[in-house]
Amino acid sequence: MGRVYNFSAGPAVLPEEVLKEAAAEMLDYRGSGMSVMEMSHRSKVFETIIKEAEQDLRDLLEIPDNYKVLFLQGGAHLQFAMVPMNFMKHGKADYIVTGQWAKKAFKEAQKFGDARCIASSEDKTFSYIPDCSDLPIDEDADYVYICENNTIYGTKFHELPNTKGKDLISDVSSCFLSEPMDVSKYAMIYGGAQKNIGPAGVVVAIIREDLITPDVLEGTPTMLQYKTHADADSLFNTPPCYGIYICGKVFKWLKKQGGLSAMKAYNEKKAAILYNFLDESKLFYGTVEKGSRSLMNVPFVTGDAQLDEKFIKEATQAGFVNLKGHRSVGGMRASIYNAMPIEGVEKLVAFMKKFETENA
Ligand SMILES: *Cc1c(COP(=O)(O)O)cnc(C)c1O
Repeated sequence: MGRVYNFSAGPAVLPEEVLKEAAAEMLDYRGSGMSVMEMSHRSKVFETIIKEAEQDLRDLLEIPDNYKVLFLQGGAHLQFAMVPMNFMKHGKADYIVTGQWAKKAFKEAQKFGDARCIASSEDKTFSYIPDCSDLPIDEDADYVYICENNTIYGTKFHELPNTKGKDLISDVSSCFLSEPMDVSKYAMIYGGAQKNIGPAGVVVAIIREDLITPDVLEGTPTMLQYKTHADADSLFNTPPCYGIYICGKVFKWLKKQGGLSAMKAYNEKKAAILYNFLDESKLFYGTVEKGSRSLMNVPFVTGDAQLDEKFIKEATQAGFVNLKGHRSVGGMRASIYNAMPIEGVEKLVAFMKKFETENA
């Protein structure tokens, strides 16, 4: 069986070139006589891998020198807790709830202090990004939190909220490295690797240095303090070595594609093919307000649950897999991350057109 077009929201498609390279290096990584899975994280060989990965990421995002780059574990979910444990210095934080992941982060933060929801789009099944130009931000808030791209609902902040001078913390799991971003506008950004940059098991956090202090919530375990990992350059304990190695390869692949501006242009082109079709289709339609659309996750429906099911079944048989939408939205969702080739989107749209004709 050949490779399919995988529209999974995560773990998701990776560049074929990266997978082939990893396969070629599996038994003997560059003359070391062993796989990256088998080598000490304290070895010179691995040190080069993690250092290069960090440098390539710094180059791609033009990360300012006063930001630390950390490779962590525990998924985005652990960040839902680590963020308040480390940064709720005055016990207050403001959350913008634009989907399930933001809501989970908000709920988790409530365990540690006074977390407030200052804006939400839950009234319309999170199908839009609320106006965040003049929110009731608490004067004592330690930070404002957003989930920048809402994987399940297919929305994205196209403009950052006005935080009125407060530090901004953003979960960028599903839009990481899909386009350039100005890191200096954030106190912290983080993302799980398995959406757009590598295998599950790695979380990348980029944090402004002055925030990484020892005065964290009382009782915070050593492993959950950013300072622990920052002081040890992500080698406090055994890191997810193989995952970091693959992320590093993806960073190099992104550089080869021309960096993040080139990726943005490519992603816009891909997304336009799908959105333009959805806008003119008589059968399918997108579920998100136009001004809030994501470049990465595109949910759509026919309006008939049975027909949706038929579509998913036939699409799977034709080699377009993982198109089933999240249960809270229903219908379909095509995740078209960096590694999804434009042919994949073109062929999917051709298939949708055929399905539309057959089911008119
Ligand atoms: C997938 C996802 C998460 C959850 O990630 P885990 O690694 O499973 O904890 C959180 N936030 C966003 C935006 C996601 O897409």
